[in-house]
Amino acid sequence: MPDYNCSCVFWFRQDLRLEDNPGLVAAAEEGSVLPIFIEDQDKGDEWSRGAASSVWLYHSLKSLNDQLNGSLRFFSGNPKTILINILKTYGAKTIIWNRLYDQRSINRDTKLKADLTARGYKIKTYNASLLWEPWDICKEDGTPYKVFTPFYRKGCLNGKTPRFPLTRPKLILAPNDKFCGFENLKSLKLLEERTWESKITDCWEIGEKAALRQFQLFIENGLNGYKEGRNFPIKSNVSRLSPHLHFGEISINKVWYEVKALFDNKKYKSRDIDHFLSELGWREFSFSLLYNNPDLPKTNLQKRFNNFPWASNKKHFDAWKHGRTGFPIVDAGMRQLYKTGYMHNRLRMIVGSFLVKNLLINWRDGQNWFWKCLVDADLANNSAGWQWIAGCGADAAPYFRIFNPITQGLKFDPEGRFIRHFVPEIASLPTKYIFSPFTAPNDVLLNSNVILGKDYPEPIIELQSSRLKALEAFTNTKN
Ligand code: FAD
Repeated sequence: MPDYNCSCVFWFRQDLRLEDNPGLVAAAEEGSVLPIFIEDQDKGDEWSRGAASSVWLYHSLKSLNDQLNGSLRFFSGNPKTILINILKTYGAKTIIWNRLYDQRSINRDTKLKADLTARGYKIKTYNASLLWEPWDICKEDGTPYKVFTPFYRKGCLNGKTPRFPLTRPKLILAPNDKFCGFENLKSLKLLEERTWESKITDCWEIGEKAALRQFQLFIENGLNGYKEGRNFPIKSNVSRLSPHLHFGEISINKVWYEVKALFDNKKYKSRDIDHFLSELGWREFSFSLLYNNPDLPKTNLQKRFNNFPWASNKKHFDAWKHGRTGFPIVDAGMRQLYKTGYMHNRLRMIVGSFLVKNLLINWRDGQNWFWKCLVDADLANNSAGWQWIAGCGADAAPYFRIFNPITQGLKFDPEGRFIRHFVPEIASLPTKYIFSPFTAPNDVLLNSNVILGKDYPEPIIELQSSRLKALEAFTNTKN
């Protein structure tokens, strides 16, 4: 038994940072702090973490542990049993955590709180991941918003002022013992799917320091021109902050206030700042949708979609997953996802529309594949994103909005640079044919060393007829 008593246990969850961490600040005020992480083995649902985000989590914890001089304790199992043991072992009377907003976590935390309080412990919880608590943003009649613009303009911007960022607390940490160290981190078994590790670590820097650097880089090189540039996957106008925000390596309040402060800086245009802030608003909207509709990951928000005639075609689905549909912009997006654990937002919309509205495959299959492959896989954003694409969500894309992958490529990757990078086997095609190799004359294909059906697939569907079929199915759903 450790010969050290600490005042308080701080339970890290999706708030893997030291700066602007309200729960951690409160813990520091209690006295000496025992920082812990628990891999909850009692999840019992299909939304256990995917392969790519498990790699991210491993490295994020490793980096946080370094910042805490190796004093982070790692546990795996049932949180209640673990917490009771820890509290007893270290003589702590208080436990503090930052809140999560999915139903399973809410249920677990509510029970834990009641149980530990009944045993005489003090529980304190804080908001470290949202600008506005989901229950604070509702219409005048008390019901939640279903449309983004009034949610953001009326509810958020005219609502409570978000909390100002807090400074990093001075921590008195419990001395290291046998529960610390990498062996314990490894025992969480986060790196089970080895193929993902090198892919992710090759193209991402992970952890709080990396998140802060990435944010700085975006302010210096990406924010100017964000409003238009964010649509072009080859440009560096997007922040790539999504995995850092998901794991709480950077505070949303810090991002919000630091970007807002740039309204006073002549170097930046207010439309770029406004647009970036509104994207953070979409994140808040997704969390509000999930909080108010706990079944969002599984159930169509618009019930008339419940009998939609989804196709079941494994060949098509496999071709989509592995970027072999024969439509280069779709394939480039899907390969970016599988190679890097990330996909640009414009491409998420294009590949999503292709899956749901050209292949007529259920949005939940796409959502599941994204869940496995995304480093930013997030129950709120992923579910809301897919429901939006499928047209069955709140404030969703109308059913007749079917992205044409050829014109989308032409518009948002006009020189084909993004496609050439991720689909190298057609890189030599002239730009005129890079978006639709199947329209290239034989001599052009020959000169570019492309044999369709061998080097690169023929299109797996015919665009026009699949579009008409989808429109018919969606119109019937509407009726
Ligand atoms: P930026 O353009 O730099 O935006 C800054 C931040 O704003 C993002 O990091 C993100 O936190 C938030 N944001 C931006 N766009 C959206 C949006 N449409 N909805 C909600 N928040 C947004 N985002 C995830 O974080 N996790 C997911 O699992 C996820 N799945 C998606 C699935 C589909 C089908 C679609 C269409 C979108 C999904 N998104 C998801 C939203 C969006 O694509 C990503 O947040 C964005 O591409 C992340 O890149 P970025 O950080 O460079 O974005």
